[in-house]
Amino acid sequence: MGFFYRRFSDESLNKLYELLEDVTPLRDDCGLLCCAACCEGDGNDGMLLFPGEKEAFEGKEGYAVRYNTAYGSDVVICTGACERTERPLSCRIYPYFFYVKDDGKVTVAPDIRALGRCPLAEKGAGASPLFLRRMRMAALVLKRDPTQTAFLRQVGAALTDLGPLEELLTLK
Ligand code: SF4
Ligand code: SF4
Repeated sequence: MGFFYRRFSDESLNKLYELLEDVTPLRDDCGLLCCAACCEGDGNDGMLLFPGEKEAFEGKEGYAVRYNTAYGSDVVICTGACERTERPLSCRIYPYFFYVKDDGKVTVAPDIRALGRCPLAEKGAGASPLFLRRMRMAALVLKRDPTQTAFLRQVGAALTDLGPLEELLTLK
């Protein structure tokens, strides 16, 4: 159990960090497949911050928080290297994301932004069963939190403009 996430006052955020603390999409380091392409952005990129995370990263050494108009939300920009226990939720779940379906259920599917960039996000290149099990548990935590669900709806609407969301939601 790490130290960083315990600083959050938000109960569901703590639970999400705990669930996704010690699992990765692959058992081995998937960064070896792609030279860690997802950590190679420039100053215009950034990882979405879930509600409650901004306070933890603002002013933190090695991180900068920016508002992203496309998402209508804050993102964090990093130096390209970090301690696993200190990375934001978006990095823990990449290349997957959570989407809210019409019936209110929160589902796990590849992150549209990862397609064409991350080898794991392509159809058929599945993550480890343990990782996906934790992701589904995290989806249940998110579903019970109205603030997090509203955030996912907002971001999901922005992502819908980027790709075939309906098709992604059918992926297992
Ligand atoms: S999540 Fe995808 S892009 Fe990131 S290191 Fe793993 S394989 Fe590479
Ligand atoms: S915070 Fe860490 S995992 Fe996330 S993009 Fe930066 S270096 Fe990669």
